[in-house]
Amino acid sequence: MLVFRDSGLLVKCETMSKYAQELKVALEAVKSASSVCHRIRQSQLSEDAISKKDKSPVTIADFASQAVIIQHLETAFPNDPIVAEEDLEQLEAIRGSALGDSMVGFIQDLLPDADWQAISSWVALGNYSGGAKGRFWTIDPIDGTKGFLRNGQYAVALALIEDGIPVLGVLGCPNYPVNGFSDSENKDDGLLFYAVDGEGAYKMTLDGGEAETIHVQEVANAGEARFCESVESGHSSHGRSQKIADALGVTSEPLRIDSQCKYAAVSSGEASIYLRLPTSETYREKIWDHAAGWIIHREAGGLATDVYGKPLDFSLGEQLEKNLGIVAAPASIHGAIIQVMPDILA
Ligand code: AMP
Ligand code: MG
Repeated sequence: MLVFRDSGLLVKCETMSKYAQELKVALEAVKSASSVCHRIRQSQLSEDAISKKDKSPVTIADFASQAVIIQHLETAFPNDPIVAEEDLEQLEAIRGSALGDSMVGFIQDLLPDADWQAISSWVALGNYSGGAKGRFWTIDPIDGTKGFLRNGQYAVALALIEDGIPVLGVLGCPNYPVNGFSDSENKDDGLLFYAVDGEGAYKMTLDGGEAETIHVQEVANAGEARFCESVESGHSSHGRSQKIADALGVTSEPLRIDSQCKYAAVSSGEASIYLRLPTSETYREKIWDHAAGWIIHREAGGLATDVYGKPLDFSLGEQLEKNLGIVAAPASIHGAIIQVMPDILA
């Protein structure tokens, strides 16, 4: 496994990774995008959300993050298609506005030659629709925009999918407390989580430092587990998760955080079970909301399926068309959760 330091310097090489170059570029891309998001978050402008057609919020940080990641990918892997969350039409709506100009300024702090033309062409490159054949990248430039807006947790998510299966994932989590959520000092320096197929899962601080292996938290029985779930009850039913807690004898309070930081939390032992319980029969999860988190969690020793225990199918385009909700847990207790699910979903 290759482990990278802040500078991109190789610090450990046990076996040569098949995806060494991809990992190096993905880490650099996510670190750069995370730093842009963090700087925008610290400015007043972070509160200026634009409403998308589906009424969900988007900010200039979403566009800036997507542009910066795609700039890195396009330079290193010009032939790789990209499925990214944001589209050009929304970006065009702020062209020439004070908000649009300030976004250009934040990107130029990193990429001095980036003008509106270049930025919009990077954002537009994220228009691939995914599928079962070949390799492509998927980006959620800010997962958990609602968390970003309330200065809670959010994640910059990037994954490489090959023949329908995520093989590499990176999550930049700029507000993730380095010593964990239970640390009273709550030091929000930010963490980066990453994994490559068959090579383990790792975390490192966003401001540098060495990578550390992470692992899911095993519990003797499901009743001892702690749940992790969305802050937004519209994204995951809190009522249903309480019923599962009652059925399994779980007594601890759930850890409620936004974004794929939930996968990071269950992959590094902050909680054992990530539940995403459908609030509607028709909503389909997006591949960019799960690909990076899924492989990090699997490489940390976990098992993530949908609420029926079916494997997540990333090969069907932008959505997990054939899956409903998510259950991520150590394999030893995953079955017990799936077993109580029919009563909960009834
Ligand atoms: P979270 O941070 O767990 O609240 O998840 C944020 C993600 O929820 C966003 O990126 C959206 O893509 C996704 N989302 C939006 N509506 C729904 C819904 N009805 N059910 C589940 N997820 C949703
Ligand atoms: Mg998202």
